[in-house]
Amino acid sequence: MKKFNVPVVYRSPLITAIKNRRSLDDKLKKDFSPSLLDFGPVQIYLARHFGFCYGVENAIEISFRTIEENPDKKIYLLSEMIHNPLVNDDLKSRGVRFLMDTKGNALIPFKELSPGDIVIVPAFGTTLEIEKKLLEAGVDIEQYNTTCPFVEKVWNRAEVISKNNYTVIVHGKPKHEETRATFSHSAQHSPTVVVKDMQEAVELSSYILGTTDPEKFYARFAGQFSDGFKVEKDLQRIGVVNQTTMLAGDTQAIADYLKRVMTKKYNLPESDIAERFADTRDTLCYATNDNQGAVYALLETPADLAIVLGGYNSSNTSHLVELCEVKLPTYFIKSENEIISSKEIRHFKIHQNEETNTLCYLPEKKPVKILVTSGASCPDSLVEDVIKKVIGFFDCDKTIEDLTKEFTDLSNKKRNPVIQK
Ligand code: SF4
Repeated sequence: MKKFNVPVVYRSPLITAIKNRRSLDDKLKKDFSPSLLDFGPVQIYLARHFGFCYGVENAIEISFRTIEENPDKKIYLLSEMIHNPLVNDDLKSRGVRFLMDTKGNALIPFKELSPGDIVIVPAFGTTLEIEKKLLEAGVDIEQYNTTCPFVEKVWNRAEVISKNNYTVIVHGKPKHEETRATFSHSAQHSPTVVVKDMQEAVELSSYILGTTDPEKFYARFAGQFSDGFKVEKDLQRIGVVNQTTMLAGDTQAIADYLKRVMTKKYNLPESDIAERFADTRDTLCYATNDNQGAVYALLETPADLAIVLGGYNSSNTSHLVELCEVKLPTYFIKSENEIISSKEIRHFKIHQNEETNTLCYLPEKKPVKILVTSGASCPDSLVEDVIKKVIGFFDCDKTIEDLTKEFTDLSNKKRNPVIQK
């Protein structure tokens, strides 16, 4: 995979040494077992895959290069470039201004834009309506577009489904930038509806089956269906795509469920299901699959707690939290600053949508075993900072530097087995 030029401040010597070592041993990414960082009284189990994905590194590289190459121009971001406060704050401190918040509310009116201004489109992509506004303002929408190719792949899949006369069902968070962009691109080709979870899929199925008054659909799914959507006509042939960062199991369950609904409604034999339900696989991206798969493997390790790092509005990170919290106490934090002391941690509760403080989060027993992972928009440097903070509470046998050297030496040995003997 392409290597990107990401500011070194986001990298971590320890994490880079571990990732290099693991990929040398496992080039085909078949081994999802975690890496053990054994500090003696505290043991950190690090997920096999976590941190910056292709789309995020691409967006960061383009954004920082654009700032460097255009010192005299006004540079805007449509909204948060990625869902990580550290990276967004860094961009702001370099003079980049945000046109909208993550929900699409204007922070700076588009009428303030002038031809020649630079507007960076984030990795999530954007809607056709916003592209039109930018073009009307004379802004180039191609040169500084960092839309992730894996998001564009979803748009292409939706287009193929549309061209075969299916209505597109998007499994995603309706207010998330990526889902709004996918909805907009899909809706130009065919009727489109967004469902955020299985409950909404079940409600949608009652309109497919005709068990709920069709008129109720328009209020129930307000803001989630395309203009001109006709319930009686537009739910007869459907196909599902999804936001790239949803939980793999949820997306599969929703697609399987809607397939069964169509089969029942039209009494279809197996051979004819494709007449009513487009046969597609999920559109989760590789990073979502890798990171979720790595968490499933991580959770096989008996441990006392899990720490998940990332921005609190990061969809992919919140799904990693959901996986961990069913198994053990899980603390979702955005940086090491949330670890107040060895006795207290401030963390985000995704279901309550609020921060809370927990006391005595570290057990008294030794060794303490901690699972650690992070989302696709979280710099590795933050993961190292968290590990540093945690091990600082213990009388450890090893330092971060010792482990960095161990992993680096192992990689060198692997690369040059003869010289190292
Ligand atoms: S999470 Fe996936 S789709 Fe989103 S930016 Fe990263 S690689 Fe692209």
